[in-house]
Amino acid sequence: MNDLLLCKPGEIFLKGLNKHYFEERLVANVKRRLKPIGHFRVTYLQSALYIEAADDAADLDAAYDAVRKVFGIATITRAAACEKDKDAITALAKTYLHDAMTAARSFKVETKRSDKRFPMTSIELSQYVGGELAEAFPNTVVDVHDPELTVRLEVREQAAYVHAQAVEAAGGMPVGTAGKGMLLLSGGIDSPVAGHMIAKRGMVLEGLHFHSYPYTNMQAREKVEELARILSEYTGGLTLNVVSVTHIQEEIHRHCPEEMMITLLRRFMMRIAERLCKATGAQCIVTGESLGQVASQTIEGMTSSNAVVSLPVLRPLVGFDKTEIVERSRAIGTFETSIRPFEDCCTVFLPKHPLIRPKLSDVEAAESKLDVEALVEEAMASLEKVRF
Ligand code: ATP
Ligand code: MG
Repeated sequence: MNDLLLCKPGEIFLKGLNKHYFEERLVANVKRRLKPIGHFRVTYLQSALYIEAADDAADLDAAYDAVRKVFGIATITRAAACEKDKDAITALAKTYLHDAMTAARSFKVETKRSDKRFPMTSIELSQYVGGELAEAFPNTVVDVHDPELTVRLEVREQAAYVHAQAVEAAGGMPVGTAGKGMLLLSGGIDSPVAGHMIAKRGMVLEGLHFHSYPYTNMQAREKVEELARILSEYTGGLTLNVVSVTHIQEEIHRHCPEEMMITLLRRFMMRIAERLCKATGAQCIVTGESLGQVASQTIEGMTSSNAVVSLPVLRPLVGFDKTEIVERSRAIGTFETSIRPFEDCCTVFLPKHPLIRPKLSDVEAAESKLDVEALVEEAMASLEKVRF
């Protein structure tokens, strides 16, 4: 008999009248994520999502790993199935929850019964199985008010189920419920974390990576593609836009003060990002900047790059320490890829003393030496798209 996954949504509960919209999106996202894994039955019932294998080939372990990364799900629980018979249920609870029952000092049994033809009421079944378990595990006692462990039973149409302990899942809101953003994705530690945070709030993301080939190499590109692929496991798909800023950097290098390289390059990145937002329907730009982390990430630097775009720029890491960002990066699985050595375009023509507090008027004066529009157009013409 097939086991099952039980998922509980998180904040969707708070959404009042919009709840259905969030639930439908969550179910659609889960189905889409399971599609490449196999055939599953996905049902949404009383604020819980049930996932069952629809045939023998459907791998529930693979489904568990995939669904744990779907935003909008707060907890996930495995459940083992058995025949709808009180003694079969008791036997399964004894083996399936053996370790948890041995560790707990107190427990209670809770039953949900959606099959109303089952001959016992929920309370009767809870009492029966509770009594049997108390006898089998003398280390623990029944405590219906404040138990350490709650044994959950469920009598459904196809089978009866015994639940394991719920495990924390990805949390957040279903992707697709909070608009669309353009994530500036470098190969570093910060931007994938920023993207993960924003996607977790329900935003659909596209990635945008700038390279300075041949000053930057193909390994840098492959690394960013790998980061985009990892992010796509959470977002359910991601388009990576790749644009060359080689000529822009050469022109800045040739015509502008050395210390303004990064400040000016950032402004070009923002302009290109905004163009791409308009072309793809994205409503904001997302970056991995954190206040004071490096010379260009000052409030003056951010002011200078904000000045060339009208869309909002989201910087979810702005108040984070590097150690906090690294911790998140490890948790989401991007850290090992991010620390592979590579040249970012920002390290090409890197000034010895970058401007820390650029004055907007100085920046604009320096930039007036460049044909900004033509350079942006030229960069846009180098656009490539990779779908994950
Ligand atoms: P990260 O770890 O994300 O690379 P960082 O600490 O190295 O960040 P910077 O190099 O100053 O910081 O970049 C700040 C932000 O600008 C990045 O988080 C990213 O959003 C964007 N960015 C920098 N370089 C690129 C690039 N080559 N392509 C796309 N976005 C970039
Ligand atoms: Mg970087």
